Amino acid sequence: MLSLELQEGDKKLLYLGVRNKYCAACAQRSPKELHACYKNWNASSSEMENDIIRSGFLAAEKDHGVQYTRFIGDGDSSVHTTLIHGIPG
Ligand SMILES: [Zn+2]
Repeated sequence: MLSLELQEGDKKLLYLGVRNKYCAACAQRSPKELHACYKNWNASSSEMENDIIRSGFLAAEKDHGVQYTRFIGDGDSSVHTTLIHGIPG
Protein backbone atom coordinates (compact mmCIF):
# COMPACT_ATOMS: atom_id res chain seq x y z
CA MET A 1 0.00 0.00 0.00
CA LEU A 2 1.11 3.51 -0.70
CA SER A 3 -0.48 6.68 0.54
CA LEU A 4 0.17 10.35 -0.05
CA GLU A 5 -1.09 13.05 2.27
CA LEU A 6 -1.14 16.72 1.48
CA GLN A 7 -1.74 19.14 4.31
CA GLU A 8 -1.98 22.85 4.69
CA GLY A 9 0.20 23.68 7.68
CA ASP A 10 -0.86 21.20 10.30
CA LYS A 11 -4.55 21.91 9.93
CA LYS A 12 -6.39 20.76 6.91
CA LEU A 13 -6.03 17.56 4.97
CA LEU A 14 -6.08 18.64 1.35
CA TYR A 15 -5.52 15.36 -0.38
CA LEU A 16 -5.30 11.75 0.57
CA GLY A 17 -4.59 9.21 -2.08
CA VAL A 18 -4.27 5.51 -1.51
CA ARG A 19 -3.30 2.76 -3.90
CA ASN A 20 -3.63 -0.81 -2.81
CA LYS A 21 -2.19 -3.78 -4.61
CA TYR A 22 -3.14 -6.22 -1.90
CA CYS A 23 -6.55 -7.24 -0.63
CA ALA A 24 -6.78 -9.78 2.17
CA ALA A 25 -10.18 -10.99 1.00
CA CYS A 26 -8.89 -11.56 -2.54
CA ALA A 27 -5.98 -13.52 -1.15
CA GLN A 28 -8.15 -15.78 0.95
CA ARG A 29 -11.15 -16.55 -1.21
CA SER A 30 -12.22 -16.78 -4.78
CA PRO A 31 -11.89 -13.43 -6.55
CA LYS A 32 -15.33 -13.95 -8.01
CA GLU A 33 -16.90 -13.91 -4.59
CA LEU A 34 -18.35 -10.50 -3.84
CA HIS A 35 -16.64 -8.51 -1.12
CA ALA A 36 -15.57 -4.98 -0.22
CA CYS A 37 -12.35 -5.04 -2.17
CA TYR A 38 -9.44 -2.87 -1.06
CA LYS A 39 -7.42 -3.48 -4.16
CA ASN A 40 -7.55 -0.54 -6.53
CA TRP A 41 -4.26 -0.85 -8.37
CA ASN A 42 -3.02 -3.56 -10.70
CA ALA A 43 0.03 -2.05 -12.37
CA SER A 44 3.58 -2.09 -11.05
CA SER A 45 4.64 -0.54 -7.77
CA SER A 46 6.74 2.12 -9.43
CA GLU A 47 3.82 3.13 -11.62
CA MET A 48 1.70 3.22 -8.51
CA GLU A 49 4.12 5.61 -6.85
CA ASN A 50 4.29 7.88 -9.85
CA ASP A 51 0.54 7.86 -10.30
CA ILE A 52 -0.31 8.74 -6.73
CA ILE A 53 2.32 11.45 -6.56
CA ARG A 54 1.20 12.96 -9.83
CA SER A 55 -2.46 12.85 -8.78
CA GLY A 56 -1.71 14.39 -5.40
CA PHE A 57 0.41 17.20 -6.74
CA LEU A 58 -1.99 18.04 -9.51
CA ALA A 59 -4.91 18.12 -7.10
CA ALA A 60 -3.06 20.30 -4.62
CA GLU A 61 -1.81 22.75 -7.22
CA LYS A 62 -5.13 22.98 -8.97
CA ASP A 63 -7.33 23.28 -5.89
CA HIS A 64 -5.12 24.89 -3.30
CA GLY A 65 -1.82 26.10 -4.74
CA VAL A 66 0.14 24.40 -1.99
CA GLN A 67 3.19 22.24 -1.73
CA TYR A 68 3.27 18.76 -0.38
CA THR A 69 4.23 18.36 3.26
CA ARG A 70 4.34 14.69 3.91
CA PHE A 71 4.92 11.56 1.96
CA ILE A 72 4.45 8.07 3.29
CA GLY A 73 6.00 5.49 1.06
CA ASP A 74 7.55 2.07 1.22
CA GLY A 75 11.10 3.26 1.74
CA ASP A 76 12.03 3.53 -1.91
CA SER A 77 14.19 6.64 -2.06
CA SER A 78 13.68 6.99 -5.81
CA VAL A 79 10.23 8.31 -4.99
CA HIS A 80 11.77 11.39 -3.45
CA THR A 81 13.81 11.91 -6.58
CA THR A 82 10.58 11.76 -8.53
CA LEU A 83 9.05 14.28 -6.17
CA ILE A 84 11.91 16.73 -6.45
CA HIS A 85 12.66 16.44 -10.15
CA GLY A 86 9.53 15.00 -11.69
CA ILE A 87 6.94 17.65 -10.94
CA PRO A 88 6.30 19.99 -13.83
CA GLY A 89 6.33 23.72 -13.23
ZN1 LIG B 1 -10.47 -7.94 -2.89
